Amino acid sequence: MSTVVEARPASPSKAHSTPPISPSSTLTSVKIVKEEKAGKEEEPADMDIPDNYVAWTLKNQKPLPPVTWENLFRELNYLSLSILTITPAIAIIGAFTVKLRWETAAWSVIYYFITGLGITAGYHRLWAHRSYNASKPLQYALAMAGAGAVEGSIKWWSRGHRAHHRYTDTELDPYNAHRGFWYSHIGWMIIKPRRKPGVADVSDLSRNEVIRWQHRWYLHLIISMGFLVPMFVAGLGWGDWAGGFFYAGAARLCFVHHSTFCVNSLAHWLGEAPFDDKHTPRDHVITALATIGEGYHNFHHQFPMDYRNAIRWYQYDPTKWFIWACEKAGLASHLKVFPDNEVRKGQLTMQLKRLRETQEVLTFAPDVNELPVISWESYQEQASKRSLVAIGGFIHDVSAFMDEHPGGRHLVAKNIGKDATTAFFGGVYDHSNAAHNWLSMMRVGVLHGGTQHGLEDKNVPPSQRLRIARYNEIGSGNASSTAWSDGEGLLG
Ligand SMILES: [Zn+2]
Ligand SMILES: [Zn+2]
Repeated sequence: MSTVVEARPASPSKAHSTPPISPSSTLTSVKIVKEEKAGKEEEPADMDIPDNYVAWTLKNQKPLPPVTWENLFRELNYLSLSILTITPAIAIIGAFTVKLRWETAAWSVIYYFITGLGITAGYHRLWAHRSYNASKPLQYALAMAGAGAVEGSIKWWSRGHRAHHRYTDTELDPYNAHRGFWYSHIGWMIIKPRRKPGVADVSDLSRNEVIRWQHRWYLHLIISMGFLVPMFVAGLGWGDWAGGFFYAGAARLCFVHHSTFCVNSLAHWLGEAPFDDKHTPRDHVITALATIGEGYHNFHHQFPMDYRNAIRWYQYDPTKWFIWACEKAGLASHLKVFPDNEVRKGQLTMQLKRLRETQEVLTFAPDVNELPVISWESYQEQASKRSLVAIGGFIHDVSAFMDEHPGGRHLVAKNIGKDATTAFFGGVYDHSNAAHNWLSMMRVGVLHGGTQHGLEDKNVPPSQRLRIARYNEIGSGNASSTAWSDGEGLLG
């Protein structure tokens, strides 16, 4: 869900207007001021896209040639590459040269959460997804904290993230998880993209004064929030300037980077799909722990405008708790929650799907329509030659079972050629569901004339009374075991 710097999309066609990394670009500043004055509203970028946009784009916009060892050096995004390699290098130098004080260690962890929340609660849930409303002070705080994570401006980041949600797992998804774990983690930032991300509207963000302010001062903000603030707090607080720079600055930044990058990689790779398995997003507690609560990503892709990622109180989602606390403090409002009924439908769908898979590998009793219908006389006659017992309107061949009967062979033997329905269903012993299920596997015919009234339910083995059927299978066969044909047949 995140990036380090503003990589300009490499596109064969008209390049999308990507915000510059440096706010010092006079041209852009002037343009923004002019637009502000004129009160001109940016038209939504996806206003006029055709209905077949995805297919059309994939067919007609040719991607850049694949990256090979020969062209690799020309295809790297050196700005991203530098930030992603120099930051950990600085942190490693610090680890070997500066002693880590406990105050600095604690401050680094706290600052990791502050800047991480800038991304998760700010960039992601507030701006990319509009999952709640934030007051101006909270917006400024989140915009500053998010800048301290050095992952690009809010507008650029949200534009990529909205494309990721809209075109998940396709070539128009900038972090397409089908291209592998490392591509979705950092590859998409250090190699120039082969395609421009799919169109996604961010005109609402262009109108936001906090986002414009962050955009304008972005370079100043990443230097001050990324390095100066962590250094000054440790320096002025307990005299550890170097520790503040190396640990709370560089090492912390490295952790924030890879923590948030995990939402694009780990969250599309590890875990379960309790809501929908159509795409790669997954739920896992490890991802949640690594990403300040963004690990319930299967839920998130299904319900992206929900301010929560974790819906259970015991699941780890500090970003949700932070937004909730902001609401209690009067800093946030209109926290969006998807209707529980719809959330549970998603869960039910996946549960039924798994049950169906279990059901499909089991063998059930033959369908009533597959069995021959036998008259009472014919049954009597055939029972004199083999061990047949009639129970609940079905004729069963119990030859192989006689010695397996827990109650003893004699109780089965005395019912051969008879109707043992009453004896089976409680007259002698009220057989277990397992016994009934197993008995149904011995069915070889249907007794002509059906069974007594009130027994219909008992004709269906317990394991088949409730079954998972696709919508177009409901109503087909297997619903009744009542004999309907007058025809005679031979037992199979
Ligand atoms: Zn995702
Ligand atoms: Zn998202």
